[in-house]
Amino acid sequence: MRAISYTRATDVPAAVAAVTSDPGSSYLAGGTTEVDLLRLDVLRPHRLVDINRLPLAGIEDRSDGGLLVGALARMSEVAEARAVVERFPMLSQALLLGASAQLRNMASMGGNLMQRVRCSYYRDPESACNKRVPGSGCSALEGVHRGHAILGTSEHCIATHPSDMAVALVALDAVVHVEGTKGSRTIPVDDFFLLPEDTPEREHPLTPGELITAIEVPPVPMARRSLYLKVRDRESYEFALASAAVALALEDGVIRGARLALGGVATKPWRAHRAEDILVGERADVDVFVRAAAAELAPALTRPMNGFKAELARRTLVRALQTVAAQGGGTA
Ligand code: SF4
Repeated sequence: MRAISYTRATDVPAAVAAVTSDPGSSYLAGGTTEVDLLRLDVLRPHRLVDINRLPLAGIEDRSDGGLLVGALARMSEVAEARAVVERFPMLSQALLLGASAQLRNMASMGGNLMQRVRCSYYRDPESACNKRVPGSGCSALEGVHRGHAILGTSEHCIATHPSDMAVALVALDAVVHVEGTKGSRTIPVDDFFLLPEDTPEREHPLTPGELITAIEVPPVPMARRSLYLKVRDRESYEFALASAAVALALEDGVIRGARLALGGVATKPWRAHRAEDILVGERADVDVFVRAAAAELAPALTRPMNGFKAELARRTLVRALQTVAAQGGGTA
């Protein structure tokens, strides 16, 4: 057994200073992933800095139609917030589909962004895993990889990004607010998740000790009738095999704007720019939906056990597009 010391931070600067000055320490928020990984001996900090009492749990409804969600707001609170349900239903749906009720009550928004991959080899200290031990190899390449990614992979890691919430945030062009010892800065959420490339151990562009303080969701009028569609092996408490966050701006049956992202198939929440580019300016019908989905999945690199995911993701995206279009979409 390893000893881990525990301190409770009283304000943001003190929390940031504590973790920045001590590379062996980590923040502790909801702990719904982190505590599992401590028990498995995958994460090995010698000190935890509990941030749960920092004043970062607010949900600020902004007059321009956007939102500022504190990093410590719980998933369940955000999913049920009226502004989220009415203006960003894809985000509410992704939060509700993302975890069990117990986990949603405990897990924080910032922690959701920082959750680690669910690759079984990552969670097993006996297995080779470049993400856990850089340079050790990737057991999933020749191992069991039915749930692994087909987009954004590298020869060093093919782990699927696990978050549903982040898929909606990527489609909404959310922005992550962080605080470090040199001050605060913002990071577009699409840039917050790094592709594995040659350094799968580096998942975010944070400097040591930087703390997520808030997530800003800008006004997106078309998102009022948006959808998060998740396909999984069972109907509760399971990661996505494929998912799609979809918002369309429709005018007389013509697509004037599209916000699309995929989950369950890529190494990061996957903004579907190729599909968006094909859709905008076209009439909203199934032929163009199929063409857009095929283009987005064209670069997919499948392996023996996960080849089904390319077709599943295509169909998931088409079905989500059809559903949103049938509801009349939103306004640009
Ligand atoms: Fe590790 Fe990534 Fe390979 Fe899984 S897929 S074993 S997380 S390197």
